[in-house]
Amino acid sequence: AKTRLRDIVDHKSMTPDGKRLELAANISSFKELEIALSSGAHGVGLFRTEFLYMDRNRFPLEEEQFEVYRSVADKLEGKPLIIRTLDIGGDKQLDYFNIAEEDNPFLGYRAIRISLDRKDLFKVQLRAILRASHYGQVKLMYPLISSVEEVRAANAVLAEAKQELEQEGQPYNRNLQVGVMIEVPAAVIIADLLAGEVDFFSIGTNDLIQFTLAVDRMNEEISHLYEPFHPAVLRMLKLTIDAARRNGIKVGVCGELAGDVKALPIWLSLDVDELSISSHSLLQVKERLLRTRQEDSLLLLPKLLECRTSADIHELLGRFMDEND
Ligand code: PEP
Ligand code: MG
Repeated sequence: AKTRLRDIVDHKSMTPDGKRLELAANISSFKELEIALSSGAHGVGLFRTEFLYMDRNRFPLEEEQFEVYRSVADKLEGKPLIIRTLDIGGDKQLDYFNIAEEDNPFLGYRAIRISLDRKDLFKVQLRAILRASHYGQVKLMYPLISSVEEVRAANAVLAEAKQELEQEGQPYNRNLQVGVMIEVPAAVIIADLLAGEVDFFSIGTNDLIQFTLAVDRMNEEISHLYEPFHPAVLRMLKLTIDAARRNGIKVGVCGELAGDVKALPIWLSLDVDELSISSHSLLQVKERLLRTRQEDSLLLLPKLLECRTSADIHELLGRFMDEND
């Protein structure tokens, strides 16, 4: 009989042969945080801060942001919390922030690009996150990074924010870890260079698949071309995770693909540290993890990498699922 999902809430997230794979949650509201906690999440691997900026008529003040970040950190009681800086633009718009109409919004004025253009807004958010870092295991993450320069520019604003807090006597974690999302093919190709600048990677498969395949993730006309198990995507994942491993930094996955049980042998064989999953599918992935051996996944990897078509990859993964059912 299949394990009842609520019976495994408190189980360690580990394969039968001892590979630890932390299962964290993606959240964008307090309600999702509650579900994450009741599903036994290891922490929050992606806090989408956009919700704080939406459904209002002006940018949230530092104090307002700080209160939210701190209360999420409080509720997590020391479990890790990765806060992603504002990721608007593309599919996410704010009523009170006018972004000119763009021909290619996903390739346009969005995410870290806005933050680096509007350092005034960016610094307010960084100060709020830094202040919250005093109250839990907070980490900071930048979205849509495509160059080393962007990381350095963002970190320069972070350094200013730290210095201000220092002068004001406000407490913050001086060793706050900083990571980047790997969701642009350029970032994958220079992953070894980026690894030297940050403490961790988190792979955003939603954007990475869209950009790798040049398939708009919102366009239903071509949704059949949005193929997570494309050989090119597999290679992108391998390049990123190998670069992280070689450079001794942690690597997680936070796009939707992390919540697809079929992808589990990919993460196990490439040796990912963490999956961050929408709270609703967390236990399903855990249930699968508890009975999937890393050793078997490792045997599957060379075969996956030899596949010439997505259909072949689907077939191999499907068969693996059946054999391990
Ligand atoms: C992603 O792109 O995979 C991701 C997690 O970010 P978002 O879906 O918020 O763009
Ligand atoms: Mg993204």
